Formats: sequence, structure tokens, C-alpha cells
Amino acid sequence: MKEIILLKNGELALKGLNRHTFENQLVKNMKHRLHDLGKIRYVQSQSTIMVEPIDERVDLDEAFRRLKKIFGIAGLSRCAAVEKDMEAILPAACEYLRDELMFAKTFKVEAKRSDKKFPFNSPQICMELGGVILENFPHLKVDVHHPDLIVNVEVRDSYAYIHGNQHKGAGGMPVGSAGQAAILISGGIDSPVAAWMMAKRGLKLYAIHFASPPYTSQRAEMKVHSLLRQVSKYSGDIPLCVVPFTHIQEEIKDNCPEDLFTIIMRRFMMRCAERIAKDQGCGALITGESVGQVASQTMQAIACTEAVVEELPLFRPLIGMDKDEVIEISRKIDTFETSILPYEDCCTVFTPKHPRTRPQLHVVEEAENVLDVEALIEEALNNLKFVNLSGE
Ligand code: ATP
Ligand code: MG
Repeated sequence: MKEIILLKNGELALKGLNRHTFENQLVKNMKHRLHDLGKIRYVQSQSTIMVEPIDERVDLDEAFRRLKKIFGIAGLSRCAAVEKDMEAILPAACEYLRDELMFAKTFKVEAKRSDKKFPFNSPQICMELGGVILENFPHLKVDVHHPDLIVNVEVRDSYAYIHGNQHKGAGGMPVGSAGQAAILISGGIDSPVAAWMMAKRGLKLYAIHFASPPYTSQRAEMKVHSLLRQVSKYSGDIPLCVVPFTHIQEEIKDNCPEDLFTIIMRRFMMRCAERIAKDQGCGALITGESVGQVASQTMQAIACTEAVVEELPLFRPLIGMDKDEVIEISRKIDTFETSILPYEDCCTVFTPKHPRTRPQLHVVEEAENVLDVEALIEEALNNLKFVNLSGE
């Protein structure tokens, strides 16, 4: 039996005249993510997209798994595509959905007929098919309000499509439809979640990671690679730029008051990140900060960090979330187990015993003045390392 995957693109349908741009971006993303599975045709019509394997060897289970992680898809179903003839539709529905029909206690049939020349209207299709299902699966009862299983029949141009309950898609907007932004990624729990959340809003991601060898190890950087690979299953490829941060951290440690160490370090991060981001064509910076989570994330500390960002907006999607809520998402997107591996991040190198929780901007600026800020940034930016990672 010919099988396809039918996608509903939810929020996209609201975008009026821009809809086609969004849909085209979505199809482009799908082609990129499924390209190694074989020849596939993508047919767009009326807020649905049909993914039709042309090649015998296309692994539809794998295609379905990958599509469930692509932003911009609200719901998806595997369907049987059958001849537009009731003689074909009735037995095909019973056969194709046999397992689900056996398992369910209640069901209803929903029919749509976009081909108005089809001789049965929607209520007639429901009546006929409902009757045949009850004959073949006598344990079933009809429940039109809360059925275990909805048997869907959609009569379209070329075929009638039969499917069971729709699966929930990843939602959001197609990656790339909102432009590109730079995620400051550590090896922690928060930043991969922040990355995922902004990719969900249609941002293509560019990752920036600060490393301080020999205080931070190669394994810490590998951990960032695996986190990005995992996020890229949703967001598509994420290029990574690694910034050498050792010298900057040593200079701060040797010349600035200990209680301001973290704040000054974070200001260096933001300055470097903004320059790299602009260079790479990014329109915003993203961090995994959340108010009050650590000393460097009090309102006053955030104000001191943010003060060095000159132009780009700074997105902090986790700002009002509890750690529990962040962990829940990190488990869902499968980054949690990697995030908790115990390799040190540059933020945990030289951490002060008593960090200032309410730093004042002029005090921080004064403390920082003893450093040659420009020269240190220049040196770091002249020694960037670029890494290409891909998801599947
Ligand atoms: P995370 O779990 O993301 O590490 P956190 O709660 O540990 O966050 P901090 O270590 O203060 O908080 O970092 C706050 C944010 O700064 C991170 O979410 C991330 O966006 C950025 N950041 C921290 N360390 C690095 C790093 N080594 N490279 C790039 N960005 C970093
Ligand atoms: Mg951290």
C-alpha cells in the first residue's frame, strides 16, 4: 500500500501573505533534513504538505522521527494513499488501521472531500466507513465526542488519504524564517534549552563557546559539540565558533578585585560575542540566563553585563523560568544527560568565594579600566576556531 506523511503547519497558516515564504522555508528545511533518505516529493496545498517517497528505499519510520523534530510543523500523520473509490477506501481503512482499531475501545470517522466530484459527500463517507468498521471490529463503539481513535479520510486531487490520530509536531516557526542569531553556549543545562527555544521561534543558530585551556579540557569542548548536535536535530546545522578565553581570564584574575571577577568576565564574553555575531550576519545574541539563578544573574549583575552590548538585542528566553522547568525541557530534547557530565566550564574557573551580587556599573567600569580591554578582545578574536557540526 502506498504510504505518505501528511503535515499540518499550524501557526504558519496565520501568516497571511507571508505564508508562502514560511512554507517554502519549511520545505527547504525538510529537504535538507531528509535528503539522505532517498527521493522524496513535497506537495504543498491548503495549509498541508504531503511528503511522498518516490524511492522504494525511503525509510518512512526514520523520516517520521525526523519530521517530528522540525519546527513549523503543528501535526503529522502517516497515511495510506488509496484509489478514490469507496470499494478501495473501505477495506483499505480496515487493513491500514487494523492495530489501532483493535487497540481502541471507541472511534469516530472524520471525512473531508476537497474533490467535490467524488460521488459521496463527507457525511456519507463517515456513515459507510463507520458501518464497515463496526462490522469488522465488533468490540468498538462510536463516540463522537472523545473517541480513542479518529479514522480520517481525506479525498484530495489524486488519492484518498487514510490515517489515524494525528501526532503532535514540534510546533513553532520554520528555522531561518526569523533570521539568524548567536547562542552563547556553555556545557550547562540552560544554554542548550535557550538555543532550542529560539530555534523554535524560527531563528537559525550560530554558536559561540568560550574555552580556557588548560583550565578547561578538550572533553568540555566535546561536550558542547554533542549538545549542539542534539539541538541541531531540531534546529538544523549549527556552526560553532570557539573563543580562546584563557588570557582574558588570567588578566582579570591578576588585576581586578576578586568579587567582580565573574561580572567582568561576562562583560568580555558579551563584547567578543557581539563582534563575532555581527561578523557572521547574526541579528541578536541569546543566553541561558534566568533572574536570580546565580550571583551573576541578579538584576544588577545583568545590567552590568548588558551595558557593554552596543547594538544587538539580547534574547534570554529562560529569564522567568524555574530550574525545574528548564530541566523538563532539557530532558524532552535529550540534552540533560550530556549537560550534567561533570566537565568544568570557563565560568567555573577562578570563581570568587564571595561574588558581588549587586555590582554598580561605575565600580565595575573602574575596576576594568586597568585592563587593555581592546587589545585582549583583539587577541581572542584573532585566534578563533571554527567547527562545523551536523545533526543527522
Ligand atoms: P548554563 O547552564 O547555560 O551554563 P548557567 O546557569 O550555568 O547557564 P552561567 O554559567 O552564569 O549560568 O552562564 C549564563 C549564560 O552565559 C549561559 O547560559 C550561556 O548563555 C553563557 N555562557 C556561560 N558560559 C559560557 C561559555 N563557556 N561559553 C559561551 N557562553 C557561556
Ligand atoms: Mg554555566
